[in-house]
Amino acid sequence: MFTAFLIKYAEIGIKGKNRYLFEDALVHQIKFALKKCEGRFLIHKSQGRIYVDAQGEFDYDETVEHLQKVFGISGICPVVYVEDEGFEKLCDRVIRYIGDVYPDKNRTFKVHSRRARKDYPKESMEINADMGEAILNAYPEMSVDVHNPEILLNIEIREKIYIYSETIPGPGGMPVGTGGKAMLLLSGGIDSPVAGYMIAKRGVKIDAVYFHAPPYTSERAKQKVVDLARIVSEYAGPVWLHVINFTDIQLYIYEKCPHEELTIIMRRYMMRIAEHIARETGCLGLITGESIGQVASQTMNSLIATNEVCELPVYRPLIGFDKMEIVDISQKIDAFETSIQPYEDCCTIFVARHPVTKPNVNIIRRHERNLEERIEELVQTALDTKELIVVE
Ligand code: ATP
Ligand code: MG
Repeated sequence: MFTAFLIKYAEIGIKGKNRYLFEDALVHQIKFALKKCEGRFLIHKSQGRIYVDAQGEFDYDETVEHLQKVFGISGICPVVYVEDEGFEKLCDRVIRYIGDVYPDKNRTFKVHSRRARKDYPKESMEINADMGEAILNAYPEMSVDVHNPEILLNIEIREKIYIYSETIPGPGGMPVGTGGKAMLLLSGGIDSPVAGYMIAKRGVKIDAVYFHAPPYTSERAKQKVVDLARIVSEYAGPVWLHVINFTDIQLYIYEKCPHEELTIIMRRYMMRIAEHIARETGCLGLITGESIGQVASQTMNSLIATNEVCELPVYRPLIGFDKMEIVDISQKIDAFETSIQPYEDCCTIFVARHPVTKPNVNIIRRHERNLEERIEELVQTALDTKELIVVE
């Protein structure tokens, strides 16, 4: 029965020119999200609102599901459009609408009408009163409550007349594209896809980098990361995934540095390379899935060591989260089942039995000097052989 959706968005802080940027980005993201849905849609702005009109047949549930992934949307109102065929016909139509949408009539309601078209023969106060009366006649179990109605029946008089009363919650946040772009260090684990999701929610476009170590890590492990990038892209839009072959760098560190510092030194090279690609691609920051104390390489001391090699800000949205809280979000965004597939991660292959938990940055730097001879060349080769996968 519904033919359209009215899209609600939080308007805080989007006055003046920012408002247009915000709305245009939102329209763009809605178009992108609905491209994957059955049916055709016309998305348009009208008098400070955004409407999604179905052009013919469409799948209601699928459409709502996709709209619920568009950041910036705070609410989705399914709308029925009717032609203006006089007030009596309109009342009949509204009564039928209530009959369809609310099987239980024992409810309070209020009619809220707006005239976008001033040539309509009744004023809004009159519409509210007369339609309220017609509804009460049709459904005597219902009652009016003007302060706190259970059903707020919106009637908008435009070229056509719009009827809506339900609001399905949206994901909130800001439309992707309004907040610049950042580079996500995406591994095959649980944390980094969640981190990417959280920063995308603030309107930031996401690029990603994955370090793999063939033949120690398999093609299947890489495919898992592509799958995770695809899940992030359902919220963030297309994700450019840069795949770096990290094997030779890892082996060289293994050969030249103390094994208990291997993870930290490796993480420092990941951050350096990620920052290099980030700068080349116009990213304004890096994103990781780190959380204080989760593993040896994420103690506060270890974070000093991995943080100091970058100049760009490193965003760690999960820093204060427990694993269970991260798992909750991972499940909510449908990444969890993919994340727990058992494919090896390049970090786990060479891990020492007792990695340092309080690395001393001076000592780490000193040991990195063991790499002086070949590391620059190896990093350059890794960059030169980078593979780009556009995931959408
Ligand atoms: P995740 O669940 O995200 O894999 P983790 O708990 O396994 O995290 P670490 O392996 O210590 O934690 O990695 C910390 C962060 O470093 C990750 O969240 C991710 O952002 C980044 N990272 C780790 N390994 C890789 C990799 N192979 N490629 C890209 N980024 C990585
Ligand atoms: Mg990991």
